[in-house]
Amino acid sequence: MSVEKKFGDYGGQYVPEALMPAIEELTDAYERYVLNNEDGFMDEFRRRIRDFGGRPTPLERADQLSERYDREVYLKREDLLHGGAHKLNNALGQVLLAKYMGKERIIAETGAGQHGTATAMAAAHLDLPCEIYMGRRDINRQRPNVFRMRLNDAEVTPVDVGRGTLKEAISETMRDWARTVETTHYVIGSIVGPAPFPAMVRDFHSVIGEEIDRQFRERFDEPPGAVVACAGGGSNTMGTFDAFVDGDAELYAVEAGGSSLTVDDEAGVAPHSASLSTGEEGVLHGARTKLLQDDHGQILESHSVSSGLDYAGVGPELAHLVDEGRVVPTNVDDDAALEAFHRLSQEEGVIPALETAHAFGFLEAVAGPETTRDRELPETVVVNVSGRGDKDLEAVVEETDKRDLENAPSMEVFDG
Ligand SMILES: *Cc1c(COP(=O)(O)O)cnc(C)c1O
Repeated sequence: MSVEKKFGDYGGQYVPEALMPAIEELTDAYERYVLNNEDGFMDEFRRRIRDFGGRPTPLERADQLSERYDREVYLKREDLLHGGAHKLNNALGQVLLAKYMGKERIIAETGAGQHGTATAMAAAHLDLPCEIYMGRRDINRQRPNVFRMRLNDAEVTPVDVGRGTLKEAISETMRDWARTVETTHYVIGSIVGPAPFPAMVRDFHSVIGEEIDRQFRERFDEPPGAVVACAGGGSNTMGTFDAFVDGDAELYAVEAGGSSLTVDDEAGVAPHSASLSTGEEGVLHGARTKLLQDDHGQILESHSVSSGLDYAGVGPELAHLVDEGRVVPTNVDDDAALEAFHRLSQEEGVIPALETAHAFGFLEAVAGPETTRDRELPETVVVNVSGRGDKDLEAVVEETDKRDLENAPSMEVFDG
């Protein structure tokens, strides 16, 4: 097997000269340890993601949703992975790889803090010092995750550049890496960035789809008719899809439709994060991909009610699979995602991450009682529950308060 550096016209290695030695060293390590299992690397990864992470995660029939949508709906429970989201698959894989490469220090960026907490957990587990770059604004918005990272002995470094969010945190982490390549590994948080990151991050997550395939066949003797996952950078998406790309299952990537799909070019703002559906080709963070940008190639400020989907780019492999017609891009707006959040919580006893709720908003849009889209979903559908919603409770209370949602419970708190 050789290292995939491009996906059609997308991907590549658009990095400053100073980073090339690090990229080449990583490419070599990815090929030896991950693709060729040298020194039993993949055996150790599988053992640790089982014992430390809790794999395999269950594939569960959603009884109420199956009835509501009149088809077999199954949930892949990545919310039950240690840390409460799929993110540990990649973080543990990369920190372990850093160890095999003889690196002495881990750095990572984080937006909402989910990738930062997963990386901090993995670094503590494997006993490597860890520094997480996080925008100042995100630090103030996501305090519980800052505490979780510190509890796992990671240093959290505020980034004051620009808006102080994910995009700037990634740039800052790349600058650190360029200075410290000899001793340090940069654990990137999605299937984005220069090669070999997109393929490598996908490989660490592809266990999700492999398990679905096996678990589904045990019940039905055939693969699912459709597979649905939400897409920010697209790591849970490709992890879920990879096992099915060569088959016949319909693959739906659900992006954040935000408050509207119209862009305010003047202000440089896209009130959504639907780069697969509406983006144009450009280069960001070392890769050519679909991006939200203005006519001059300036990256637009994106938006979503879920911070994990709020990114102006998307993984180059997903962009390619969309162009090929293999993956169907679709999007769900903030309101529909919130309604889906409450629906899953009430009907199935599963409180999903707001990111995940978008995937369920898509089911409601195409198969719900008031469906307006004329797409016929297959008889069997698997939805990836990328994470649990505990981290989102405050945001959900606040956002639900602002709206008049039909299916939301009272969020009033009684004092004394
Ligand atoms: C980070 C995150 C996402 C979005 O990231 P992808 O790389 O697009 O998977 C989705 N769901 C949850 C729960 C997350 O934490």
